[in-house]
Amino acid sequence: MAITAPLLWLDGTMVESKTAGAPLMGHAAQRGSLVFDVGSFRTTPRGPALFRARDHVARFLRSVGIVGLEVRFDAETLVRAAARVVAESGSEEGLVRWSAFLTAREPDLVPRDLAAHVAVAAQTFQDPPRRAPIRVAVFDDARKAAPEVLPPDTKAAGAYLGPMIARKRAIAAGADDVVLLDKDGDIAEAPIANVFAVIDRTLWTPPLGRILPGITRDSVLAIARAMSIPVREDRLPLDRFTSADEAFLTATSLPIAPIASVNGRPLGAAPGPITTRLTEQLALARSGQAPDRQEWLTYAR
Ligand code: PMP
Repeated sequence: MAITAPLLWLDGTMVESKTAGAPLMGHAAQRGSLVFDVGSFRTTPRGPALFRARDHVARFLRSVGIVGLEVRFDAETLVRAAARVVAESGSEEGLVRWSAFLTAREPDLVPRDLAAHVAVAAQTFQDPPRRAPIRVAVFDDARKAAPEVLPPDTKAAGAYLGPMIARKRAIAAGADDVVLLDKDGDIAEAPIANVFAVIDRTLWTPPLGRILPGITRDSVLAIARAMSIPVREDRLPLDRFTSADEAFLTATSLPIAPIASVNGRPLGAAPGPITTRLTEQLALARSGQAPDRQEWLTYAR
């Protein structure tokens, strides 16, 4: 369970997180228009550091722009706000959540006032994240919203309802998570994670355009290329995925979760050798121990 630090940053000031709220009858709650992004921080030899905070803020501001909210803070301010909440939290490891939301009590579909409030909060986990390989389910009729329905890089609360229902269905079927198909029936992504497969020693992941451009996905691709692992960003048919040698999910909160089985059918080793090597290299980068990846870190103090 994620626990929010006692203080969060709201429109430029630190306030008690318990008192910060969006009104029930406002647009964010009634229409799901709250826009957000989630980054992470970890302990490093120089204290806690945010991982790729600038990329998370850039994606956050892209979502803000797609939904049409008006935010009066620039990227640098939002990165600094994140460093501040991490430093204030006193924690060495956790998540950072940027949110933009409307507080005007106007659930009208297009409210007159689009000026958004912005909150930045640090969160820690009470229980250590589970590390066991996961079982995923794939259903032919559980699909990622097509780009024509909702641009796939929109991180807005309402975009997660379909995936939430699909994940509940997967759990009821005895799996841990679901992998959604795209509109043509190829692999898209999981509700809050991107998907990779290793097939004939090539690292294969669905291309951008129909999925969220995951920052962990991008980091894994950069690391794989630096390690001379062949990479393929291409449509991934379901049958290639279910017979992959290795497969894993990537997300800020995971960051790499090996997949043990798809619809009850075991894959190869979980984690397999390529998954293990990528996991090790990503951990070094996130914890400040990869000299050539220092530009990915923002130190909190
Ligand atoms: N896809 C979706 C739909 C997500 O919500 C997330 C989590 N942000 C991801 C993929 C993984 O992205 P990242 O690696 O940037 O956390």
